[in-house]
Amino acid sequence: MPKVIEEARILSHEAPIVGVDILTLSSPQIARAALPGQFVQISVPADAGFLRRPLGIAEVSHTDGWIRLIYRQVGRGTEGLASAGTGTAVSVLGPLGRGFNIALKHPLLVGGGMGLTPLLFFAAAHPKVSVLMGGRTQEELFWEEIYRPHVHECFVTTDDGSYGTRGFVTTLLPRLLAGGSYDGVAVCGPPIMMERVAAIAAEYGIPCEVSLEKRMACGLGACLSCAVDTKSGRRKVCKDGPVFPAGEVYYAS
Ligand SMILES: Cc1cc2nc3c(=O)[nH]c(=O)nc-3n(C[C@H](O)[C@H](O)[C@H](O)COP(=O)(O)OP(=O)(O)OC[C@H]3O[C@@H](n4cnc5c(N)ncnc54)[C@H](O)[C@@H]3O)c2cc1C
Repeated sequence: MPKVIEEARILSHEAPIVGVDILTLSSPQIARAALPGQFVQISVPADAGFLRRPLGIAEVSHTDGWIRLIYRQVGRGTEGLASAGTGTAVSVLGPLGRGFNIALKHPLLVGGGMGLTPLLFFAAAHPKVSVLMGGRTQEELFWEEIYRPHVHECFVTTDDGSYGTRGFVTTLLPRLLAGGSYDGVAVCGPPIMMERVAAIAAEYGIPCEVSLEKRMACGLGACLSCAVDTKSGRRKVCKDGPVFPAGEVYYAS
């Protein structure tokens, strides 16, 4: 899989809610090569340090040569990136990592918060996919509008019951899996959510993949800063993942 560094120009940079940004970049080589579940390492302004930051690829357009990233501002790097306007050039390294198995008849994607980013690319690339998304409040589920054009069914939970089913994604998941039409689950979100979703999928005998987030430096498998212990030995999240079979992962690590 070719990895490239592209000087990518910002085509648009929008904020669906305060603190979250949707960044569309002209990046034809990465758009052409990327697979669902892969990520890029993006440069951030110099005063945020010299390390690139990893962000999942949310969407691509092969024909128009763009990639889309969706990120939450959590610290210096992402806050600095958020101040970059249309027309600015940013350096992007990618596509990186091992993505999801999308060779399924009818997968169920389960996402919480920014975990919905890499799953969006999966949804857009698959002809029949359903999504179960969870958020704390209705405001956080701006995702529903973004997913709708790509999915067969969309199920929503909110912690406070302000929209959809009250509770967590795990409140609704057993009922959906009991319906029996899904042949795989892909999940991305907080570790506790992924652990519980993986356990429920295992109860129903449905294969499950999880996408891990670990702080990383190079993104290329060289620096070992993102190494994690798995049931089959030590693995690098950046190169062996970020997507792993759910049964391989120790969620506390
Ligand atoms: C493969 C991968 C894909 C990712 N995709 C996305 C995405 O699509 N959208 C998105 O919003 N974020 C994503 N992240 C997380 C994102 O990389 C971090 O939020 C970002 O690097 C933080 O940089 P910063 O300089 O703004 O914050 P920092 O100042 O570095 O950190 C601020 C806070 O964020 C925490 N943090 C920093 N990096 C990570 C990390 N990698 N994982 C968990 N917590 C972290 C720190 O512990 C700290 O509490 C991804 C991470 C990985 C490893």
